[in-house]
Amino acid sequence: LKKRLQALEKKAKIQHPAVKFLPEGKRKRILVTGGAGFVGSHLVDKLMIQGHEVIVVDNFFTGRKRNVEHWLTHENFELIHHDVVEPLYIEVDQIYHLACPASPPHYMFNPIKTIKTSSIGTLNMLGLAKRVDGRLLLASTSEIYGDPEEHPQNENYWGHVNPIGPRACYDEGKRVAETMCYAYKKQEGVDVRVARIFNTYGPRMHMEDGRVVSNFILQALQNLDITIYGDGKQTRSFQYVDDLVDGLIGLMNSDITSPVNVGNPDEHTIEEFATIIKDMVGPTSSKIVHHPATEDDPQRRKPDIEKAFKGFGWRPKMPLKEGLTKTIEYFRAELAQEENNSPN
Ligand code: NAD
Ligand code: UDP
Ligand code: UDP
Repeated sequence: LKKRLQALEKKAKIQHPAVKFLPEGKRKRILVTGGAGFVGSHLVDKLMIQGHEVIVVDNFFTGRKRNVEHWLTHENFELIHHDVVEPLYIEVDQIYHLACPASPPHYMFNPIKTIKTSSIGTLNMLGLAKRVDGRLLLASTSEIYGDPEEHPQNENYWGHVNPIGPRACYDEGKRVAETMCYAYKKQEGVDVRVARIFNTYGPRMHMEDGRVVSNFILQALQNLDITIYGDGKQTRSFQYVDDLVDGLIGLMNSDITSPVNVGNPDEHTIEEFATIIKDMVGPTSSKIVHHPATEDDPQRRKPDIEKAFKGFGWRPKMPLKEGLTKTIEYFRAELAQEENNSPN
């Protein structure tokens, strides 16, 4: 065990030689719920490198210890196995509240649990923020706009959500989470920030996540059919995870208390994504095929991001092809590792 810990410490130092030292007054105690997940773990990396004390709370439903493993022995880091549906009593300055399954197959797997996580989980984190007089940032979503009738989506748009459809557990869960943030702000003076996150991709996306970027890359890498749901004319705008992390930290430390879109306005049809990814993965015998459309699938999605730019000077920087290259490399390595670990 000692050897393993030493190896991890070494790994953390090699991977992150530049953890800054922040003096007591500047160093914050930051809770990241869902910090072992895809977005959360990248956020943790950045906050750790900035020199803060970071506490991750995760129930490992879709997250993995491996995503934060390199910090386990660092004195500024703490990992707590906990479900946010249960109350949590700790002392912190800031809370990034990300805990919630995010991909449609995951959040539809147990819709009641998804609703509990968004509602009771957010209530608990707001109760915590209130007690410690801390600031809470909610990871909300572009899904609160539903299948939008306005394009691009601006923060003033109220959305178009089917409250009883298959996506409702997630969409309405996040909508009520936003509502709770502003009720706690108004009634209890809790300091809140709300980020409406648009589709995000990058390394550490869950392999069986079912989201379009991970599906298409894995399918192309394994010479499987690339599955377009519906006619492929529906659009999405994808941001790279590092851009999102910068946006979340920028918003948390800004004065903007109303909701802010964080996304990349570079919009493509799903058909275009299939072709781009297939071409980028290189020689593959994968064919692009069409499957039936999913119910209530939003047809167009693109963020208006002027508010984030004016408010805290944030704009996404990563071009799609560069971000996809990094993501493809990640999945290639993951598949190779799986193959090495398989008994045959
Ligand atoms: P993810 O599934 O990788 O991460 C979610 C994390 O929350 C996981 O580590 C999971 O184990 C944990 N979790 C789930 N339920 C929990 C509970 N009850 N208690 C404690 N931990 C719990 O997803 P992600 O893509 O990293 O998403 C993070 C956040 O960002 C989510 O709130 C999601 O709604 C939001 N978001 C993500 C995207 C995106 O494209 N990735 C888009 C919009 C919004
Ligand atoms: N809560 C928590 N941690 C805290 C403070 C509160 O998990 O540090 C939970 C608490 O269990 C409650 C919820 O947050 O269910 C809302 O708290 P609040 O104080 O608003 O409500 P009350 O306890 O007065 O019902
Ligand atoms: N999609 C697809 N094939 C897949 C996975 C998803 O065509 O294998 C489509 C899906 O129908 C949707 C878009 O890609 O129109 C984005 O889906 P994802 O689940 O990634 O995110 P969300 O619907 O939450 O934006």
